[in-house]
Amino acid sequence: MDPLKDVADCRDLEFLRQNGARADFPLLQNEDLVFLDSGASAQKPQVVLDALTDFYRTGYANIHRGVYRLSQQATELYEGARGKIQRFLGAAESSEIVFVRGATEGLNLLAHSFVRPRVQPGDEILITQMEHHSNIVPWQMLGQETGAVLKYVPLTGTGELDLAALPELLTDRTRVLAVTHVSNALGTINPVAEIIRLAREKGVPVIVDGAQAVPHLAVDVQALDCDFYVFSGHKLYGPTGIGAVYGKAEHWRAMPPWQGGGDMILSVTMEQTTYAEPPACFEAGTPDIAGAIGLGAAIDYVQGLGLANITAYEQELLAAGTEILGAVPGLRVIGTAADKAAVFSFVLEGVHPHDVGTFLDGDNIAVRTGHHCAQPIMDYFGIPATTRASLGVYNTAADLEALAESLLRIRKFFRV
Ligand code: PMP
Repeated sequence: MDPLKDVADCRDLEFLRQNGARADFPLLQNEDLVFLDSGASAQKPQVVLDALTDFYRTGYANIHRGVYRLSQQATELYEGARGKIQRFLGAAESSEIVFVRGATEGLNLLAHSFVRPRVQPGDEILITQMEHHSNIVPWQMLGQETGAVLKYVPLTGTGELDLAALPELLTDRTRVLAVTHVSNALGTINPVAEIIRLAREKGVPVIVDGAQAVPHLAVDVQALDCDFYVFSGHKLYGPTGIGAVYGKAEHWRAMPPWQGGGDMILSVTMEQTTYAEPPACFEAGTPDIAGAIGLGAAIDYVQGLGLANITAYEQELLAAGTEILGAVPGLRVIGTAADKAAVFSFVLEGVHPHDVGTFLDGDNIAVRTGHHCAQPIMDYFGIPATTRASLGVYNTAADLEALAESLLRIRKFFRV
């Protein structure tokens, strides 16, 4: 029997409960570091690092163009990664997956190629007050350019979407609804299936920003029936500079390309260009080949742990952390949705979040402080910033206890 296989088979909820998956992550072998900033970007497991270096050391060549074997093998690896994303998201065809730099680029691509041709002055683009700036700014830019009007689904005091307001906000002028699956600043898991159903009833296409969802819960784009789903690789334990957009095949086929260049064409004359079929026509130029392969390895990694196990484990951490942080006097959690990912955004009475973050860093605890690129949320809660601890598969309850202990010392230090 292969002993390594036994280890692989043990990667279940019990495996995670023993010490999280920390041992898989080289950077976290520094035992003193408490890393609680996975919402900004996750650490990388050895298997992802290996996939990147193996490719550069032994398999590197440009893709799609070479007749030589090395190039063909690189193409197979790159297209293989596309297939992994297809299966990861439950898409019908791998050609429905377009590689991009990340969620931000994906949303800009969709603003440009999907929504822009559909909007006239006075048409409406519906988003929510919970969005990351990357799902606000491209729509504001498009509004300025086209005269389309941006509308927002409002928040509630628990940091959930006020879905009672949604039916009225979906009007016959709404051309698209773009909504986050999981809020980066609050952790709220939105009921996107229900939101999509309501939008469908009004014939409104839906873009889901899955940047904070895919590391924590299983996604099935066909079951959701969303039109588009975007995410970034680096929050999913993969490399930076790579992400993907799922879109229904019928949409990709009807959309104009957004960047011109090599690899997205069938033929070019001095007068005009015939474009390649999707997804190639949306991937102009040499892509991040190694990044795509690394992302494929990251997907293999999380699937090896099992998304259901990851969700269950992180929900246990959420429950533990809610209790542990609940014992810190003066700490108020911002975002207390019933359905939440393991994110603790909080304010500590009498201490500015930046001071909290700096003090925590002194204890080797890495958290994010600020508005988390979601200023409309901060405006809603009437605060300039929060301190955010966002968890991943390598965290344990001990990390949260270290956080709470440090917060208690901060209170003493600031005499609050
Ligand atoms: N959407 C959400 C919900 C996010 O949290 C982020 C990253 N913080 C993004 C979009 C943008 O992702 P990226 O910076 O990787 O493009």
